Amino acid sequence: MNHSEPNHEKFREWIDMRPQHLRSGIQALPPWKLYRMSSSGHRVTLYSYDECKCGGREIHEDCEGGLSLTVSVTGQFNRVKFSRNVFGILPRELTECELPASDERLGETMSAPEAKRFVASLARPH
Ligand SMILES: [Zn+2]
Repeated sequence: MNHSEPNHEKFREWIDMRPQHLRSGIQALPPWKLYRMSSSGHRVTLYSYDECKCGGREIHEDCEGGLSLTVSVTGQFNRVKFSRNVFGILPRELTECELPASDERLGETMSAPEAKRFVASLARPH
């Protein structure tokens, strides 16, 4: 399902400037679609298409044909503690999905300062 208006022409132009080995992988995951990430079940939008340093020449668990993704997990499409970007996602982990139901509870359960404190609390000074 689209979460924003497609700009097919601009997307095609941009793909044409990407390295050859990444083009079909990017083409299959347009940035205006909403996806479900299999590992966490969150709905995600695409933040960036990341080129692995292997250049697609290696069989590599960090990429598919040289492509990995950074996705945004946000309160717009999920109920989460806080919104964030997650990198190192493989194309096969994403499946196109529907928009949230109109009565689904969405949003962030932590305020920005709470989220900052929470993340800080995960690290300990040494
Ligand atoms: Zn790689």
